[in-house]
Amino acid sequence: MYKYETHLHTLPISKCAISDAESSLKFYKDMDYDGVFITNHFGFKNVGLDGVTYESKVNTFFDDVEKSQEIGERIGLKVFSGFEMGDHGADFLVYGIGREFFLKNADFMNLDILDKLTLMKEAGGLIIHAHPFRQLKSKRSIRIFPYHVEGVEVYNTNREGQGTELAAMYAKHYELSEFAGSDNHSAEEHPLLGGMQSETPIINEQDFIEKYRAGKLNTFCEKNPFIYME
Ligand SMILES: [Zn+2]
Ligand SMILES: [Zn+2]
Repeated sequence: MYKYETHLHTLPISKCAISDAESSLKFYKDMDYDGVFITNHFGFKNVGLDGVTYESKVNTFFDDVEKSQEIGERIGLKVFSGFEMGDHGADFLVYGIGREFFLKNADFMNLDILDKLTLMKEAGGLIIHAHPFRQLKSKRSIRIFPYHVEGVEVYNTNREGQGTELAAMYAKHYELSEFAGSDNHSAEEHPLLGGMQSETPIINEQDFIEKYRAGKLNTFCEKNPFIYME
């Protein structure tokens, strides 16, 4: 089986991360993964660039992914592009949407969340509802988006057990596919890992999307062996 991390945050784009791309990618290489998706927060607060144009924020975001891809090439780990987008406590993992999409849709950040999701879906993006039932006291409400996502991150190993059963029911009831990711912000210090695995190697983002839609990818969760020595 070929393993893929689907939900990974790195410094400096994700300000909440404590590890950079170099250490994160080396960790997954040591773990024998075939690849990772870098899914930094696509909210311009996180990019940390106040007072610059939309275009330069977009370029900074995707230039960073390309830098990570260069590290991946050097160490022998595939690095794919993705991002996480939030809307008042609801979070979405998006794959297959890149720089060109954002440069073309200059008013994107001003759109309503349903319009954002629709536009990305129409452009071929795969949208997963990330940790839909994560419990945070600051959350005003928990919302589901069954008609605007294709999958549900049932297994998010950042906060174990938070809403996993509910997320599984959400996926089942609305006939959405299950998804798993680590939401790793701390590279080798992240205790539990989750992701998607494939019988054949994933070539690029489009291939990942097609395999997921065809039901060819399976979720997995595992302990970080560097933390849990058995
Ligand atoms: Zn974060
Ligand atoms: Zn995340």
